[in-house]
Amino acid sequence: MSDNKKFFITTFGCQMNEHDSEIISGMLIEKGYELAKERKDANIVIFNTCSIRENADKRFFGTLGQLKKRKMAERENFTVCVCGCMMQQQHIIDTIKEKYPWVDVIFGTHNVHELPILLDNLYKEKHKQLSIWPEGAEIVEGLPTERLFKHKAFVNIMFGCNNFCTYCIVPYTRGRERSRKPEDIVREVKNLVKDGVKEVTLLGQNVNSYKGEHDNGELCDFADLIYLLNDIDGLERIRFMTSHPKDLSDKLIGAFKDCAKLCHYVHLPVQSGSSKVLKEMNRKYTREKYLDLVKKLREIDPEIAISTDIIVGFPGETEEEFEETLSLCKEVRYDSAFTFLYSIRKGTPAENFKDQINEDVKHNRFNRLVEVINDISQEKNKEYVGKTLKVLVEGPSKTNSKTFSGRTETFKLVNFKGDSSMTGEIVNVKITDCNTFSLEGQVV
Ligand code: SF4
Repeated sequence: MSDNKKFFITTFGCQMNEHDSEIISGMLIEKGYELAKERKDANIVIFNTCSIRENADKRFFGTLGQLKKRKMAERENFTVCVCGCMMQQQHIIDTIKEKYPWVDVIFGTHNVHELPILLDNLYKEKHKQLSIWPEGAEIVEGLPTERLFKHKAFVNIMFGCNNFCTYCIVPYTRGRERSRKPEDIVREVKNLVKDGVKEVTLLGQNVNSYKGEHDNGELCDFADLIYLLNDIDGLERIRFMTSHPKDLSDKLIGAFKDCAKLCHYVHLPVQSGSSKVLKEMNRKYTREKYLDLVKKLREIDPEIAISTDIIVGFPGETEEEFEETLSLCKEVRYDSAFTFLYSIRKGTPAENFKDQINEDVKHNRFNRLVEVINDISQEKNKEYVGKTLKVLVEGPSKTNSKTFSGRTETFKLVNFKGDSSMTGEIVNVKITDCNTFSLEGQVV
């Protein structure tokens, strides 16, 4: 391998993956590697994959295939590594070995921390490295992180998922739930605050079922953890992602009132508005129970913004059941929603469900749903016009260096004229206009 040790990571999927990529960057930088600005400038490329949707699989294989020519030309001076959820599936590893045999390193979600060693072994031993730990691996603490933003940070509080929603591959790729100790999380957040972080986003597949154990053996649930973090001096905002409705407790809802640093925002995936479809999805709540949670959240915190995930075209979903989803969206009036076409995930129970929905029907429903969601988002955004909001400034926009953007506590994206001294600060912005996905404003 040449002395030029520049790496580039392409990340697919959710915030857990984004954070794993931050950890990979942190570890490699600590070992003397350098982060390249673009893939073409790097001689180590890493793909952190996602298996939740068919699209992400296809994009990954498409991009990986494009590298073959370069790998054949540069051989040991160019290293290709693949990791993430897809690598936890044997059929994917088999495909890579068969169709992309020039990939150098494959590692799984439980052994991200091993990458520097795997690279050392690759260069010393001159043979390919594969490391996929079985699920249930111990949590590795204290890994360095190269954050994307100076002022905000992701903090993993737990790993894995026990829920086995019938469409989802995550419990098979990320393993069973394992929670970090509250003391370790508090220590990490205090260190982040010392390093200039104002906002933390607590991450887990289902943070509501967090069950940490204190050093003295006492249990700490997710609401307890929020109260602990709320007491950290210098921390300004706490967010979390993602929340399963079945585990959203009254105690946690109460934290929205008691904890000033907990942002007025919750992402509460509903997936469907039909109790029958929810049962088929194994979501363990009904439409009524979900609506009741929304009511309680709004009673406790009238300012709260709510977003969601919705799957359209789950096997067996009838027109009437889809219309229940539309009516639920109109009733809840989401601030925003991530909408997905159902796609079969190999190895999940729903793969074998009868009545897979025709693609045209799925697309038709999807378009109708998006129209309803977007209309409501725009209406909700209009309610902000004329108000002055606290915005944590993220930095200049990619297309115009004088336009800055940031997020409100309710996670609304706000664009405004600013300057670089504002990056990382919380400023007051008067909202002057809005569109479907963002607000426009002026600093006051
Ligand atoms: S809660 Fe359901 S959708 Fe979320 S990660 Fe677990 S199995 Fe997947």
